[in-house]
Amino acid sequence: MFELKTRQATWAVLSLVWLVVLSATSVPAVGQDKPRVAVITTGGTIAQKIDPKTGQAVPTLGADQLLESVPGLKGIADIVVTEVANIDSRDMQPSQWLAIARAVAKAAADPAIAGVVVVHGTDTMEDTGYFLELTRHTDKPIVLTGSMRDASSPWPDGPLNLLNAVRQAADPRSAGRGVTLTLNGRIIAANAARKVDAGNIDTFDGGAWGWLGTVEGNKVYWRARPDRGQSFDLPGALPSVPVVMDYPGSTGALLDAAVANKAAGVVVVGYGIGNVSHPMYDAIARARAKGVPILVTSRVNRGQIRPAYGGEGGGASLQKLGAILSPINDPGKARIALMLALAEKAARDPAALTARLQRAGP
Ligand code: ASP
Repeated sequence: MFELKTRQATWAVLSLVWLVVLSATSVPAVGQDKPRVAVITTGGTIAQKIDPKTGQAVPTLGADQLLESVPGLKGIADIVVTEVANIDSRDMQPSQWLAIARAVAKAAADPAIAGVVVVHGTDTMEDTGYFLELTRHTDKPIVLTGSMRDASSPWPDGPLNLLNAVRQAADPRSAGRGVTLTLNGRIIAANAARKVDAGNIDTFDGGAWGWLGTVEGNKVYWRARPDRGQSFDLPGALPSVPVVMDYPGSTGALLDAAVANKAAGVVVVGYGIGNVSHPMYDAIARARAKGVPILVTSRVNRGQIRPAYGGEGGGASLQKLGAILSPINDPGKARIALMLALAEKAARDPAALTARLQRAGP
């Protein structure tokens, strides 16, 4: 009898302990059984509607309205939303990259957050995405998304893109794959993404990196886990680094003007494997004589820049001037890496800057 009572008491205590454990873990307050995703909104076409007076798209939806417009979103994650801006991304500024990166870092530091989604216009999404990739210090997924069709469209692509982005950010298998641009069901590394179509919803291309994965139906299918370069600390401010393009007939005057305007460094978009015209070579020589860092990229999207050609203007001659043949062959991305390297006060010596850019590059 005594034994029975002791056993009953033991069971009662064990059940109580079990109930306490359950209520503290697997039966949490309403809604907490879903992963939690931070959504940071900045605007873009996804948040725009047609102004009936002009017939043109303009920023309209605030962060909450944007989330409300996505059927099923709340079923897959608890959303914590922060509106950093509501602009067309043609107006995105480097100071806003810093604000977005701070918001991402803050969200990612919260142990309850599984991943972060950044809603952004597609025009400069690849710039913000690459900046976030170079400055991230987390393995949690950071997913940029937006849309090509505005929210007044009878067939908007925004709601499904946002749903897919949240699905990816909420999925534990998305960790350790860096910053991605996820639109049209395709997951593209921010290290490689480029907008390639002015109007089609299938607008981003991952170049040699292809797609890291896809979001199809209600599932994320991962196919690759990219290597990553060494990241940069987030600086307080970013230096001015303009981009100057070479073309038949260029005089080098635009590069001179950039130097006169106190550019901290300049990205030159040359030809082919990393060559420039004679007048541009002369302008680079003048800039280098003043100690201005010059990063040479190419208007050709694929392949690595190398010192393959001799003669003034050939890549080898540019290196002799102390210009850097960019390890990152994409003028927009090379510029961002140079801005971060210069903000870090890396030595202005070309060898040290090259090494820093190489470590950052894919
Ligand atoms: N102009 C728009 C933007 O970049 C284009 C888009 O979002 O698709 O904000």
